[in-house]
Amino acid sequence: MTSLDDLPLRDDLRGRTPYGAPQKSVPVALNVNENTHPIPEDVAHDIVARVAAAILSLNRYPDREFTELRAALAGYLGHGLEPDRIWAANGSNEVLQHLLQAFGGPGRTALGFAPTYSMYGLLASGTGTEWVTAKRDADYELSADTAVAAVREHDPDLVLLCAPNNPTGTPLSLDTVAAVADAARGIVVVDEAYIEFADPGTPSALTLLEGRPRLVVSRTMSKAFAFAGARVGYLAADPAVIDALRLVRLPYHLSALTQAAALGALAHSGEMLAMVDEIRAQRDRISIELARMGFRPYRSGANFVLFGGVDDPHAVFEELLERGILIREIGLPGSLRVTAGTEAETTAFLEAIAVFAPANSERRGE
Ligand SMILES: *Cc1c(COP(=O)(O)O)cnc(C)c1O
Repeated sequence: MTSLDDLPLRDDLRGRTPYGAPQKSVPVALNVNENTHPIPEDVAHDIVARVAAAILSLNRYPDREFTELRAALAGYLGHGLEPDRIWAANGSNEVLQHLLQAFGGPGRTALGFAPTYSMYGLLASGTGTEWVTAKRDADYELSADTAVAAVREHDPDLVLLCAPNNPTGTPLSLDTVAAVADAARGIVVVDEAYIEFADPGTPSALTLLEGRPRLVVSRTMSKAFAFAGARVGYLAADPAVIDALRLVRLPYHLSALTQAAALGALAHSGEMLAMVDEIRAQRDRISIELARMGFRPYRSGANFVLFGGVDDPHAVFEELLERGILIREIGLPGSLRVTAGTEAETTAFLEAIAVFAPANSERRGE
């Protein structure tokens, strides 16, 4: 049988492992930070009608500039953004890949603050960009001083700031974003995949775009918008940045079906986002209950909670899986991550994890 070693694979890809969160069919899947609430039926019907109409012209290539979609995304983002400042692709992963293709590449570096989203390193390696990580402060916080010191030390071509950060949930203050944007000579990307789950009143880095042509704010429809399966991510930046991304995108990269579906979802953004408050409430419930059990939940502005105080994360992960509850092993010592689901899913998780509560360890005779 042929193995990878037999193929003329690029040297820098040898020994790498692909992105691989388990995809298992379980009753309670809380491992990849999806919105676990289904799409409302009336919205689904509207999306179907739009996709059906688009099918009639699939003999033609789609609008390469996805003009209508950019206008709809600009309208959704607000902040006075015009469509010429908007870009979209098949998930924000592809948006980030476009950024790395245009501004990274061989001989260039991208800086992030570990632990952070595992795809950053993979996208960097796929584009031949050197991935450099710097440390965070205590409890995974990231102060302006710490971030700026790392920017000065590494002088990166790109900085990837994840706000709130995955897998830790840590919110990021705009002071840090502004300080990094002012200190860096390269492109500064703020990945706001989870920003809709931040506490009400939390400002977006979109408010910092004016006058900062190298600042980019990336978003996704995969999380709060409950649209992960459709693969739609987007960003806002200076129109010149958008021009740079046109140089690396594949022609017609957003299919007519994707554009039609995304427009349908955006036409119902209020309904699509209706569950966000409920999910935030379940997130806060998880943090409170886990703390009560003696675990150490970290501060989260996202739809998931990272918690420490787990003696044997792998054993707990397996035990929960046996009960039909899938959560996430992050590889951080003594820690696990769980997505806030529906109230019933959250209850199932909390009841299952209670067995392993540090506060119960005496009762278990440990
Ligand atoms: C889930 C996630 C994304 C979204 O990826 P898509 O490709 O849009 O589905 C982006 N950034 C972070 C940090 C994420 O956790």
